Amino acid sequence: MEEPKKRYGCCVAGGGPAGMMLGFLLARAEVEVLVLEKHADFLRDFRGDTIHPSTLEVLFELGILEDFLALPHQEVLRFSAQVGEVQVPFADFTHLPTHCKFLAFMPQWDFLDFLAACGKRYPAFHLWMRAEAVGLIEEGGRVVGVEVVTPEGKRDVRADLVVGADGRHSTVRERAALPVREFGAPMDVLWFGISRTPSDPAASMGRLDPGRIFVLINRDRYWQCGYVIPKGTLESLRAAGIEAFRESVAQAAPWARDRVGEIRSWDDVKLLTVQVDRLTRWYRPGLLCLGDAAHAMSPVGGVGINLALQDAVAAANLLSAPLAEGRLGVSDLAKVQKRREWPTRATQWFQLQVQQRIIAPVLGRSTSLELPLIVRLLARYPILRRIPARLIGVGVRPEHVRSPEARRAA
Ligand SMILES: Cc1cc2nc3c(=O)[nH]c(=O)nc-3n(C[C@H](O)[C@H](O)[C@H](O)COP(=O)(O)OP(=O)(O)OC[C@H]3O[C@@H](n4cnc5c(N)ncnc54)[C@H](O)[C@@H]3O)c2cc1C
Repeated sequence: MEEPKKRYGCCVAGGGPAGMMLGFLLARAEVEVLVLEKHADFLRDFRGDTIHPSTLEVLFELGILEDFLALPHQEVLRFSAQVGEVQVPFADFTHLPTHCKFLAFMPQWDFLDFLAACGKRYPAFHLWMRAEAVGLIEEGGRVVGVEVVTPEGKRDVRADLVVGADGRHSTVRERAALPVREFGAPMDVLWFGISRTPSDPAASMGRLDPGRIFVLINRDRYWQCGYVIPKGTLESLRAAGIEAFRESVAQAAPWARDRVGEIRSWDDVKLLTVQVDRLTRWYRPGLLCLGDAAHAMSPVGGVGINLALQDAVAAANLLSAPLAEGRLGVSDLAKVQKRREWPTRATQWFQLQVQQRIIAPVLGRSTSLELPLIVRLLARYPILRRIPARLIGVGVRPEHVRSPEARRAA
């Protein structure tokens, strides 16, 4: 790990989608930026894998789309879900006004490695792995740096701006005591893997049955499985035993019945708690929160990564000049919240509607499911499937790269 500089333009806590994209964009605009990631690598299986058409558009604007598409990925043109035994199509991406009219599925660690490699082509980009932000350094009511725990010991990093991009359990936002509004979620997700064979279905998919929602993400050699349960019911599932759980998985994916024994015990099943919340103020002098640290997203619609990346693009657009010129003020940080709060509110509203109107009723039912009217309309009128495609694929207020490329990459 390199020696810390005397002072950075920006120190970003968290090397997820928001943090890595912001680090790359600021370095590209010649702002000295240090990204801190507490893990040793990006290889964690609890991340979403979706890269949306609006994110692909950003990659196009940055001139790195071709390189990205050269990496192994799947291109999904349409979304459908299986409700009981009925296949219900609900989103069609092929009409979107973007270069890529599909959603790309790529393991998120590959995407983050890709962003890190793009960032490292600029001399102003610095990335410390195994570096955990544990506290804020404050002087005269202003945040001026971060306390970082590294394998070499504790370090103080000083920066004109500290960005909390450390996800939904953000240490930075907690240390900054920023006010937060909770919205709640009726579900949690059990996360585990089952091996994949060539005769399995090719695409990622979701299935809704009374009392159960099951999502399968194709990760080539294995299925990443998300088993959605009513919040707080893991203990009763455990009490019923791992065999009963395996049987429930086999019912949801009968073609994988021969492999459910790979779930050897509850140790192979991770609980991902779902929370939905939003800061009412995203900043303080010298500090800004972005992505899930500013607004923890539900997995509904698989849009949280896109929103986090769009936050990063907007922040780079608004902050790279003030940072490069050493004139960053609180009003600049307020502009970022102003720009991104409305798309966040709109997206979370949509997620909460789906949670309340579809997910909670499905999880609460023990008898056959009745399709909600909106889903029946989507199944019947293909043109309507462009609306969810737009919401999921592009989102509300897509951002475009306006931060300058001050020095071309090596
Ligand atoms: C079960 C589940 C499934 C989901 N599936 C999808 C999906 O398929 N598609 C989608 O778009 N969204 C999905 N989401 C939402 C999505 O994961 C988030 O909205 C998105 O990851 C937010 O990105 P981020 O960069 O803000 O934070 P994160 O992705 O959480 O990244 C934060 C990073 O900060 C690091 N970190 C944390 N604390 C510190 C610290 N103190 N110091 C240094 N580093 C730190 C973490 O290791 C992590 O790398 C899902 C959410 C859940 C709960």
